[in-house]
Amino acid sequence: MPETPERNNILDYTPEELETIVTGMGGQKFRAKQVFGWLSKGAATYDEMSNVPKDLREKLAEKYPSWLPEAVRMQKSKDGTVKCLFRFADGTEVESVFMKYEYGNSICISSQCGCRMGCTFCASTMDGLARGLTGGEMLGQVLAMRNLTGSDIGHVVIMGMGEPFDNYEEVSRFIRLIHDSRGYGLGLRNITVSTCGIIPKIKEFAKDFPQVNLAVSLHAPNQQIRQKSMPVAKKYGYDELMRACREYTEITGRRITFEYAVIDGLNDSAACAEELAGRLKGWLTHVNLIPLNEVEGRDYRTANGKSVKRFKDILDKNGVAVTVRRTLGNDIDAACGQLRRRHAG
Ligand code: SAH
Repeated sequence: MPETPERNNILDYTPEELETIVTGMGGQKFRAKQVFGWLSKGAATYDEMSNVPKDLREKLAEKYPSWLPEAVRMQKSKDGTVKCLFRFADGTEVESVFMKYEYGNSICISSQCGCRMGCTFCASTMDGLARGLTGGEMLGQVLAMRNLTGSDIGHVVIMGMGEPFDNYEEVSRFIRLIHDSRGYGLGLRNITVSTCGIIPKIKEFAKDFPQVNLAVSLHAPNQQIRQKSMPVAKKYGYDELMRACREYTEITGRRITFEYAVIDGLNDSAACAEELAGRLKGWLTHVNLIPLNEVEGRDYRTANGKSVKRFKDILDKNGVAVTVRRTLGNDIDAACGQLRRRHAG
């Protein structure tokens, strides 16, 4: 079974861990904070770390030669969306997307290369899981994207390739690293993690990160429909998932977002909308209707505008908060693992 690789990237380490590394190389403790600060600013080489002694820089460079992923392909959309295929030192490639919103700039990062969840509408899972990314490799996507676009990034969503809760430890590490006030200092409420519904991790997450936003990919109003497209539903059933989500809102006091890709003929009927509304009525949720990105080699078609509107109206009528996701970057290889596949093919 593929595993998360050993951490080998200088971005993987907290300031405390860097202290051990730096003192082990004969450097003084306080140098760790300097290095962490430079890394968080997006430094790409040790030469930039001008206040760090040269001999320490050389020792660090020997053990941890490079850290930011290389942009091997980049697409820019007219609406400002930038999609990047990033390559890590071992050749692993993942996608990240930079988006402009009214409330600020946001990045969607990957947590794994490939995915083993097997959702039948998704491109990322078609070749299975290659490997999980380390926390530092997730941070590297944010820093490299900020360097490439020259823009501040104030929101991070972990909704790119992979299932974050199938790589929980490294996703947790990433959150702690990017939140650290000695570095990037991103607010926890500016981070969103999206899961396909791995229940034990939803419970852990509620306790570990009550301030981080949680999105759950639901895509169906019931078990029968959900398990048609999401194999994870066979292990973690619908009712149990709903209970876990309720528990999440009780523990954290926070709204949960349900993602719902509207797929023609599968989950877009009025009956589906009524059933979903019935389940969600009266609790703290938000439904994000996503027009499906059609993926080559998959049969699913996006629901037409009329049925998306009908779906939304039914939720509205029942007092369930709902929005239709704005489609960004339509003129480039939109979302969900398609750039990597196109590049490989
Ligand atoms: N594995 C996580 C996060 C990555 S996918 C999860 O399942 O939530 C991010 C979102 O995109 C999920 O809601 C996922 O179901 C959705 N998605 C995947 N393929 C899609 C497609 N072709 N069109 C629209 N949304 C898609």
